Amino acid sequence: QKSEWATLKNEATVTSDGHHVELGANIGTPKDVVGVLEHGGEAIGLYRTEFLYMGRNQFPTEEEQFEAYSSVLKQMDGKPTVVRTLDIGGDKELSYLQLPKELNPFLGLRAIRLCLEMEDMFRTQLRALLRASVHGNLKIMFPMIATLEEFRQAKTLFLEEKTKLENEQIEVSNSIEVGIMVEIPSTAVMADVFAKEVDFFSIGTNDLIQYTMAADRMNERVSYLYQPFNPAILRLVKNVIDASHKEGKWTGMCGEMAGDELAIPILLGLGLDEFSMSASSILKARSQIRKLSKSEMESHIDTILSLSTSDEVESYVRALTTK
Ligand code: PEP
Ligand code: MG
Repeated sequence: QKSEWATLKNEATVTSDGHHVELGANIGTPKDVVGVLEHGGEAIGLYRTEFLYMGRNQFPTEEEQFEAYSSVLKQMDGKPTVVRTLDIGGDKELSYLQLPKELNPFLGLRAIRLCLEMEDMFRTQLRALLRASVHGNLKIMFPMIATLEEFRQAKTLFLEEKTKLENEQIEVSNSIEVGIMVEIPSTAVMADVFAKEVDFFSIGTNDLIQYTMAADRMNERVSYLYQPFNPAILRLVKNVIDASHKEGKWTGMCGEMAGDELAIPILLGLGLDEFSMSASSILKARSQIRKLSKSEMESHIDTILSLSTSDEVESYVRALTTK
């Protein structure tokens, strides 16, 4: 099996009926890119920039960030690279940023909420990203977007920094896509509205499942409620993908679900455009996708979405894929 996967390193990810999807990887540092390329990654679907801010005692400077982002973009050599702006708060803390204790950190001041409040810190990151953009195919996405206003505010700061750099005669790319993570149910429900303004969606199922099921993703005692295959989750995912396609945009997925063997056939049938997973899962997923027919999977979607429980969905898909 492993040797079959190795032959697929430079192959395209195309279904048996000729539909191409993009297989990308999630990374945390520039060093991770080597593994992505070794495993035949076509893209980076999620660069979690928070690691640049963690394990140190002050904010990374614009220059340090520019170096890190440029390094990733150069190594990717023109392949799509989705960089997520700082997603701190919740479980991820910074020693040099003393934030007031919150009763419910996962529902508190984190990610884009914190960035919009700490505007200077956010502008520094955006400047570093904009300057690095000339070194590759950069796409930027904002985490934990709950309302359209948050996206508009973040996008405005991005455009302001872009204009400033241009006025300073600093070169920036003119083709940077700006998208959002869909990991809060309100945003998944309102995807048709967002789709008119964003360039792309990336579904963060780790948080989307947690918030939809109201089940802490770290709490074992409620892990039975953490259900990727619950029809509620699948219906939200469908809503997001359909909304993006109506506006000619694309949807990726960067939560754990994107690399799940049982989820992949469903996601293919739903029309997901990009799958982003740990680098070590890419070749296995490519091998699986090349044996699947997109049109066949599409033909099962109405039935799958009309099932009542997570167990029913799992049994249905298992029967499909082992026959
Ligand atoms: C997610 O929420 O699915 C995601 C990819 O982001 P993180 O796991 O970093 O919260
Ligand atoms: Mg998340």
